[in-house]
Amino acid sequence: MASAVRIPDPRLAQLPLQFATGGPQIFIHEGARQALERRIELAHGGVVQLAVTDNRRRMVTRTKDRGRLRVRLHMMFLDAPERVIDALVRFVGREDADASGTLGEYIDQNRHRIRGDRPVKTVRPRGAVHDLAAILGHVNERYFGGSVSDVLVTWGRKTEPRDGRSRHTIKLGSYSTAERLIRIHPCLDRDWVPRYFVEYIVYHELLHHLIPAVRVGGRALLHSSEFLRREQEFRHYERALAWERKHVHRLLRTRGA
Ligand SMILES: [Zn+2]
Repeated sequence: MASAVRIPDPRLAQLPLQFATGGPQIFIHEGARQALERRIELAHGGVVQLAVTDNRRRMVTRTKDRGRLRVRLHMMFLDAPERVIDALVRFVGREDADASGTLGEYIDQNRHRIRGDRPVKTVRPRGAVHDLAAILGHVNERYFGGSVSDVLVTWGRKTEPRDGRSRHTIKLGSYSTAERLIRIHPCLDRDWVPRYFVEYIVYHELLHHLIPAVRVGGRALLHSSEFLRREQEFRHYERALAWERKHVHRLLRTRGA
């Protein structure tokens, strides 16, 4: 299946991240923005001002203002595959209407990345031991060149096992498409839980953000072969699985988590 993920030029990853106005949790990869702006300028043959937005309704807008071309793009385009970028550059830079089909298709495939109607109320990324925002930032830089710009992370709410019974299963992480939010189970906020394990859970949930579920016989397949292949690219993959097997009982017993 087509994946919306592209590992950008590692040189771009060295550039600082900038916070977009209006959304302190959302950052824009300034290097990627500048590179795209330059490409549109070359196609257009004039000055272009590119703004990257988290707009819910307008994914691509193009207006002329005193000889200057103003382009506003949803942030999903920053990590689009080359053929989509190419279509985008033709569409906004040269007014090539034939390119709109490719753009429409890409927007449809990335609907899950458009801000949900119910905004996230509170995120608590900083735990007693592990800082999820820092972990997400690290995973984003290392595996995606800092290109993932539209996802939030938080510790989940603490729950007590019902009727004092012990748990038999535990969901260590989850991803909400509507909120574009990764939730991590608070039982992992312990000093005996290694950081690479929390990184692994965050990495897994981040892949759910980036790789949409595949429809197989009317059912949504969350862990597609593409997903599983990408998951194994995590540096401590085997080590994380081994740690989980060894400590799952301790995690199930963790009180107040
Ligand atoms: Zn999963």
